[in-house]
Amino acid sequence: DGVNLREFDYFKLALQWPGTYCRRTRHCCSTNACCRRSNSPGEFTIHGLWPDYNDGTWPACCSRSHFEEKEISSLVDTLQKYWPSLSCGSTSTCYGGKGSFWAHEVQEKHGTCSSPVFRDEHEYFLATINLYSKYNVTRVLYDAGYVPSNTEKYPLGGVITAIQNAFHLTPQVSCSNGAVQELYMCFYKDFTPRDCAVGVQSVLMKLASKSSCPKYISLPEFVSKGQELIQ
Ligand code: 5GP
Ligand code: 5GP
Ligand code: 5GP
Repeated sequence: DGVNLREFDYFKLALQWPGTYCRRTRHCCSTNACCRRSNSPGEFTIHGLWPDYNDGTWPACCSRSHFEEKEISSLVDTLQKYWPSLSCGSTSTCYGGKGSFWAHEVQEKHGTCSSPVFRDEHEYFLATINLYSKYNVTRVLYDAGYVPSNTEKYPLGGVITAIQNAFHLTPQVSCSNGAVQELYMCFYKDFTPRDCAVGVQSVLMKLASKSSCPKYISLPEFVSKGQELIQ
């Protein structure tokens, strides 16, 4: 803790695909009452906004701070919708509060390293929601015919090109068993779009597991498991 004092270079908006995430874990909670998002799980949801360095590494846990849910009370409805935790072990970690997905992202990990861009939690969460809304990657994919399906496979190149054309940035995509798991879009500190991997980093990325999607990928439909009801 507290050792990563060098200022970060850019932001990475990390999105997750619920259909893939929830296929992998028995603890997917998005079918239960606390995760309302489950009614339309055919969209990317937010994982986090991550400060990164140009060399492919990133800082984490930069300062000890306290997650104060009351700071973001005006955003909670929106966060519940677009930034649900898909792996709730109990209702207390479903939304907000200590130990939640939100607290982990902002306080324990990435949010504390995004200074001096954000002065507080409210700014961090608001900026993340704004980026997610402005760069609606799910809509771009739908418009290009890349819709959730358990039988279709889509060319990774086509998916990337559709996003490049819409937003003038090159995203990164990560997969699990050929299914899109996460999608990353990158931004300068002033929130203008940029490519995620540049120069040496893009060569390294090609070798790393992060970009190891097959040539044809799937966007699995969300399958409700039904038995994960946690009250
Ligand atoms: P994984 O090993 O599952 O890809 O990543 C584990 C965790 O490391 C992520 O949840 C995230 O917190 C962090 N992480 C992975 N890749 C990146 C990255 O490119 N940038 C940042 N800032 N964090 C990352
Ligand atoms: P890997 O060896 O798979 O790249 O990374 C293992 C774990 O170490 C990742 O899940 C990630 O959480 C962490 N990690 C890898 N690179 C970095 C980095 O540059 N900064 C930080 N903070 N964590 C990293
Ligand atoms: P990161 O991957 O950013 O280091 O952090 C992910 C942490 O948040 C993991 O410890 C994971 O158990 C927890 N978590 C809670 N809900 C979710 C979710 O919906 N998606 C992911 N990727 N992690 C979640």
